[in-house]
Amino acid sequence: MLTDTQIHFAWKVLERLYPDAECSLDTDGDPFHLFVRAILSAQCTDKRVNEVTATLLTEYPDPSAFAKESEERLGEKIRTCGLYRAKAHAIIASSQMLVTSFGGQIPSDRRTLETFPGVGRKIANLILGEVFHEPAVVVDTHCGRVANRIGFSGSTVPQVIEKDLMTCFPREDWITLGHRLVAHGRTLCMARNPNCPGCPVREVCIYACSKFSDAEGTSHAGHS
Ligand code: SF4
Repeated sequence: MLTDTQIHFAWKVLERLYPDAECSLDTDGDPFHLFVRAILSAQCTDKRVNEVTATLLTEYPDPSAFAKESEERLGEKIRTCGLYRAKAHAIIASSQMLVTSFGGQIPSDRRTLETFPGVGRKIANLILGEVFHEPAVVVDTHCGRVANRIGFSGSTVPQVIEKDLMTCFPREDWITLGHRLVAHGRTLCMARNPNCPGCPVREVCIYACSKFSDAEGTSHAGHS
C-alpha cells in the first residue's frame, strides 16, 4: 500500500491527466436508460453498448416497452453485446419489476437496486453515483487493475479494492476517482503492455517499482 503522500501524488497526477473524466456510457439524463446500458455493459465495451442503445432505447424508451417484449426478440437486438440471452432476461425481468413495484422509477437505495436481475454492486454503485450523485466507487476491470498496480489496494477482489479506495480517498472524490482510474486504464495502464515509461504515476507506482527495480537492480523512487 502507498503512503498518504504517495496517494496524494498519484491523485494529483490523475487529476492533471484526466481533469474531465466521466462515465463513458452515454448518459442522456434518463436513469432507466443508464440502467439498461449498465446491464448491457457486462463483458462488453462501453462503445459497443452506446452504439446498440442509440437505436434500442428509441424503440424501447421506458420499462413498460421492455416489459412486454420477448426475451428471444430482445436477445437478437442486443446480440452484439455478448451474453445476450442473460442480458435480455435481466432487462425484461427488471423492467417488469420496475413497472409492477416501482412505478417505473429507478430506486435510489443500494439494497433495492441489488434485488434486480443482472444488477450487482458495480451497477448499483454506477446508478447511485451517476443518477443520484451519491458517493460510490465503481470498480470495473480497468479501475480494479489500475488501483492494484498503483498500490491503492493490495487486492484483486473488486469489493476489497472498493473498500480500500474508499479508505484512501475522501467521499467527495469517489465518483471521479473511478472515472479517472478507468481513463488511465484505457490510456496508459492497459491490461497488456502498460506504458510505464510514459506514465507520470510511475514515480510512486508499486507495479512499476517492482518491475523496473527488478530490471535495473535498483530500488524505485518513493519505495524502499
Ligand atoms: S507506472 Fe505502469 S503500472 Fe503504474 S500506473 Fe503507470 S502504466 Fe500503470
